[in-house]
Amino acid sequence: MTTRYRVEYALKTHRRDQFIEWTKALLAVPFVLYSQPHGVFEDPDSSVNTLSQTREEAHRRYSEIFRDLEAMIDDHIAHQNDAENLFPSKLKLLVPSVGPFFTRLPLEAAFKFQDNKRYISSRRFVSPSFNDIRLILNSAQIMAVTTYGTLQLATFDGDVTLYDDGQSLEPTSPVIPRLLDLLRKNVKIGIVTAAGYTSADRYYARLHGLLDAMANSADLTPSQKQSLVVMGGEANYLFEFDSSSPHLLSPVPRQHWLTPEMAAWNEQDITQLLDVAEAALRDCIKTLNLPATLMRKDRAVGIIPTSPEIRIPRESLEETVLLVQKILELSTVGRSRRVPFCAFNGGRDVFVDIGDKSWGVTVCQRWFSQKEPSGPHGIIKGENTLHVGDQFLSAGANDFRARSVGTTAWIASPAETVELLDELAELMGKKMS
Ligand code: IMP
Ligand code: MG
Repeated sequence: MTTRYRVEYALKTHRRDQFIEWTKALLAVPFVLYSQPHGVFEDPDSSVNTLSQTREEAHRRYSEIFRDLEAMIDDHIAHQNDAENLFPSKLKLLVPSVGPFFTRLPLEAAFKFQDNKRYISSRRFVSPSFNDIRLILNSAQIMAVTTYGTLQLATFDGDVTLYDDGQSLEPTSPVIPRLLDLLRKNVKIGIVTAAGYTSADRYYARLHGLLDAMANSADLTPSQKQSLVVMGGEANYLFEFDSSSPHLLSPVPRQHWLTPEMAAWNEQDITQLLDVAEAALRDCIKTLNLPATLMRKDRAVGIIPTSPEIRIPRESLEETVLLVQKILELSTVGRSRRVPFCAFNGGRDVFVDIGDKSWGVTVCQRWFSQKEPSGPHGIIKGENTLHVGDQFLSAGANDFRARSVGTTAWIASPAETVELLDELAELMGKKMS
């Protein structure tokens, strides 16, 4: 095993990326067999012909593979829904890390959509990539939540998803009109961010562009304005939109929204867990000589660079996450499993939070049914929920946790979030017309 492989193996034992890598390998076969890179050397007239033939052939082959995968996922869903069947699905045998699916995935249609945008089949030197497949999966998920069911709740990560890392949602952000559009379509919105602050002014500072736009909007109904919550610290602080509050958000006391499981988390365990994490982080600062300072909060502990222009190397951040996670798992309080936690690499920092985004999204799913007890929905289900985030791969991958309670889309920048929301709006519009 090479060092590189061993390192990557340690990071990627149960990740969605294994499914993507596996799909990539399936697509590499027709790419190798049917792409015609020598076509570029032929005379111009015949090469045009070769190119269009190659493109059609590659498109047909890739489509077939996605159609077969679609059928495999259907079979996997049938297995997961059949408690009597003890045998794993074929997909589970081939990709053991694959998780449950909340919806079918129309992969062939999603491939055709992305092929039109990205010219995947026209490429003769670059095979279908990890990013191509990630975006195809996103499109398939968007198609599924709008066509097989109805999207009721969209939750968004903050940093890298709604705004650049460490920045805030400025009034000019193209994401804002798209979020307002979702509210207008009666979709509930949760901003489920790891950023953990105890007061509304700090969230206003990060989200002011959106909050001001909502307050000033003449066409959103009061109930649509009530459809936005901020869940901070992953699952620790809930705020609801409130036009009458100076920072447009009012805190909701914990006893109003904790799930029964969360209400059982004991303060002593929480303190103990954070103490163990703090000691492990301090140790990493010393042993890896990190230019970082420790930050302890009531529901989190982290390390941040000693000054904003310093970037701690990615490897050091990943090492810190994996080490702290291991120490926590092996500690007495960690082994008791009474309080869940999430240690993750935030790109520039490392944090350990109490709870994780699966709890944060669950609270949102329950909150809106609590707000409208007479409403048609009850607790919003995973198949009617979409979480959009950027952290699915780095150590700790806090957005990946949401995968266990709802459907997810994995974006790589705020610009991709905008594209995704446009795809979503188009499909929702088609459905309503
Ligand atoms: P997210 O991408 O919106 O989930 O935000 C993650 C980032 O929030 C982290 O990388 C940190 O920079 C920042 N942050 C601020 N406070 C906290 C905290 O209490 N826990 C975790 N992350 C925090
Ligand atoms: Mg993020």
